[in-house]
Amino acid sequence: MVEKLDYAQQAKWPQTSGQQQSPIALTVKAGQEIEAADLLEWQVPYYGETLSDEGNNLQLAGRGFAKLDHRNYRFVQMHLHTPAEHTIEGQQPAMEWHFVHENSLGQKAVVAVTAVLGKENPQLNQILAAFVPKTAVPLPETILLTSLLPTRGLIYRYVGSLTTPPLSEGVEWFVAAEPVTISAAQLAQYRELFPQDNNRELQPLNQRPVMGYNLGDGSPEQPEY
Ligand SMILES: [Zn+2]
Repeated sequence: MVEKLDYAQQAKWPQTSGQQQSPIALTVKAGQEIEAADLLEWQVPYYGETLSDEGNNLQLAGRGFAKLDHRNYRFVQMHLHTPAEHTIEGQQPAMEWHFVHENSLGQKAVVAVTAVLGKENPQLNQILAAFVPKTAVPLPETILLTSLLPTRGLIYRYVGSLTTPPLSEGVEWFVAAEPVTISAAQLAQYRELFPQDNNRELQPLNQRPVMGYNLGDGSPEQPEY
């Protein structure tokens, strides 16, 4: 449990300042994508193990391991933003899932996957069923998160910041263009728990490059879990 952040008072958040803040409006010019089937390599299944109420959202701590652009990262926790924080080619999806990773130097990388309304999401069902307000509970059964991780399509990549205080910079972002789905009923159920929007406002790009990497149609070398 942390003190609840007030998203209506974002201008008053303690800011470490800087010119490389997140989230941003993501866009890549057609034809500028870099072919990179091995940009994101999921090395092991990803599991959620401990679910906690963070005031404005829920957080699922767990374990997993990946090579992100050929560098080793461990998965630390996943949490949700509603609506999405990044916009993708001008669109703002209903939700954004942040898979926070860290390497041995403590550097952070976030793999973000947006969700649009559609079919029910099995993992979100498990999460909502296990969630207990105002507490942190180890789950009786771990939640397998692997199928939420991007394995195909376009990945936007840029360097930014955490989107909550301390808003630290030097965070590497990998944002999937291809969304997962959640159902309208799931979104409504989530909104009963967390009625306030918890998306930080878009931040200036300030000449940062946003790269587009194409994972292709799904690498046959990626194991299916
Ligand atoms: Zn986040």
